[in-house]
Amino acid sequence: MKTIKLRAGKERSLQRRHPWVFEGSIAKGGGDSGETVRLESTEGEFLGWAAFSPQSLIRARVWSFDEAERIDAAFFQRRIAAAIAVRARLPIASNAMRLIHGEADGLPGLVVDRYDDVLSVQFSSAGTERWKPVIADALLAATGLTRIFERSDANVRALEGLPEVRAWLRGDGPTERTIQEHQWQLTLDVAEGHKTGYYLDQRDNRKKFADTVRQYGCQRVLNCFSYTGGFSVAALAGGATDVTSVDSSGPSLARATAHVALNGFDPAHHKALDADVNATLRQALQNGERYDAIVLDPPKFAPTAAHAERAARAYKDINRLALKLLQPGGLLFTFSCSGGIPPDLFHKIVAGAGLDAPADGFILDRVGATPDHPQTICFPEGEYLKGLLILKR
Ligand code: SAH
Repeated sequence: MKTIKLRAGKERSLQRRHPWVFEGSIAKGGGDSGETVRLESTEGEFLGWAAFSPQSLIRARVWSFDEAERIDAAFFQRRIAAAIAVRARLPIASNAMRLIHGEADGLPGLVVDRYDDVLSVQFSSAGTERWKPVIADALLAATGLTRIFERSDANVRALEGLPEVRAWLRGDGPTERTIQEHQWQLTLDVAEGHKTGYYLDQRDNRKKFADTVRQYGCQRVLNCFSYTGGFSVAALAGGATDVTSVDSSGPSLARATAHVALNGFDPAHHKALDADVNATLRQALQNGERYDAIVLDPPKFAPTAAHAERAARAYKDINRLALKLLQPGGLLFTFSCSGGIPPDLFHKIVAGAGLDAPADGFILDRVGATPDHPQTICFPEGEYLKGLLILKR
């Protein structure tokens, strides 16, 4: 067993059960890609069993803080079974859910989403890559399913020196699935969809949007960064009669249009607009358009804190435009899924947008990701999705 000795003082975050060791924290030692190593303080005190990542800035990710625990097939079976068992107790209104959420489930670099009877899995660290066959077997055993599609195509793979993979890992067959979310039916393709196929973390916020649209009697709704129209279907379910989905991905919009029909809504109540959101908001303002509700759910503008400043300007801009476009009494449901933008900063950005618009509003709700994408108390980086539901005054 290889040992990694940390520099003096660098043991503290591990003692607080934070699972990452950065390159600069290591005094000596190394290992092969994904190899299990023993982490020690300068005094030789045991800190954790970790997977070594020779190419990543995050040089090691902890599997276990328990010296007596062995990192073997049984370890992965236990962690996977525990993650699935807790999902069974969480309020998840769908047959599609995140079964493993990386660090939060004690499996750094592993994301497993279940879409009906197919698992869509992302291995994004050297450690999960090394244990891939063991993890795949454990997942099938724990779920009783037979098919796993691998979506190891996120750009973080490159940081670990790993190639992209997008293929069946176990079983095969159609990659298209229909899932049930709250009272809606939605389709996705595990091979082609964003992330592992769909944005499961917004499930309950879509339901909240439907309820709010109904509560406030919103008719005219603009769903920005709509992807396949989840919030648009929600708006129609809430009684909206004029809903526009805006996205720059044509195939996603085609699916949004199909979702309107699939859920029995009048196609005349929905428009799909293949366009840039920023340009669309500016044009709408010029045309004197007004909306009763606007959703802003942009992609990650700030993957890390280093991008926060530029991202802040981008968030502020779209929020300012959206606040201007709302009727008095209109609703803004605004999100950031950037790990680099903490909730208090996001609130400040939206406050700045309000000042510039100018517009004020009541914060009706502060929301996060669905409970199958848990945050843990020892891993603050796990908090990424935050949203504000605002009623414009
Ligand atoms: N709200 C969606 C998820 C949005 S993900 C849901 O509930 O499922 C972000 C979306 O923004 C992606 O579909 C991407 O295609 C789109 N996108 C990214 N940049 C864009 C831009 N500048 N203009 C329009 N759409 C954009």
